[in-house]
Amino acid sequence: MPVKSVNLMQLMERFHSEEACREVLAELRWSEGVKCPRCQDEGHAYDSERYVWDCYSCGYQFSALAGTIFHDTKLPLSKWFVAVLLMVEAKKGISANQMKRTIGVSYKTAWYLCHRIRAAMKDGRGALLSGIVEVDETYVGGKRRGGGAGKALKNKTMVFGAVQRGGNVRLRVGPNNSRKVLHGFIKDMVHDDAEAIYSDQHQSYVGLKDYNTRHESVNHAEEEWVRGDVHTNTVENVWSLFKRSIIGSYHQLSAKHLDAYLDEMAWRFNNRENPFLFRDTLIKLVSAEALEYKELIS
Ligand SMILES: [Zn+2]
Repeated sequence: MPVKSVNLMQLMERFHSEEACREVLAELRWSEGVKCPRCQDEGHAYDSERYVWDCYSCGYQFSALAGTIFHDTKLPLSKWFVAVLLMVEAKKGISANQMKRTIGVSYKTAWYLCHRIRAAMKDGRGALLSGIVEVDETYVGGKRRGGGAGKALKNKTMVFGAVQRGGNVRLRVGPNNSRKVLHGFIKDMVHDDAEAIYSDQHQSYVGLKDYNTRHESVNHAEEEWVRGDVHTNTVENVWSLFKRSIIGSYHQLSAKHLDAYLDEMAWRFNNRENPFLFRDTLIKLVSAEALEYKELIS
């Protein structure tokens, strides 16, 4: 059965059985016909009792889950489906603790589940940003020593963001906000022919301008936030969403995990008007490679 947009009630009605879940995953994975994951051959026999295919060519027996993030899962697929819906619907993200309570699994299972779904949300092939692009950097996590806005942050991590007006966001953890690092991030994310780049007046942004790209900045130090259409409000809205999300309570996560949280945030933001986000996330899950628990905790 087709899965397009779905709410929690529809999800629970349609996908309460393992069979219904497997069926839709097979459809999403092999929309152009079932192929052997090992030899790519299309000739096969199907065993509908065990939900497995037998490849005529190489003899491999495989299910719709073979080699995917679902591979070897002991969790019912209906729980996976609910977990995916919760994650794509939660604007501020969902903690492993909340997932644990909502779908009734152990903390460890919930944590691993969230991470595997998050890993599938990584959007590797994103196009370069164009048009008008706002760039900014912020700190995530860390605790203030002694309090007060001017005090140094301990364990803080720097995050860069670039947002195309009316378009997508790109986020990345950065080692520092030197000119070299920031320019590198912008070069990786923003098209050479972008119309304009807007930033604050941080020294590291100097020199972004070229023959067909304007660079303009607002002077936050002098309380200038908007000048005509020059402002960085869009990227600052991303930061505020970000800080109200579970990332806001990030303390000791490794940079590796923070990257994954950023991918999750960006996936939701970039699909904010996509009514088929649940389906598209399932497609990513059946296309992404399995993520080992040992890989996550190393
Ligand atoms: Zn085969």
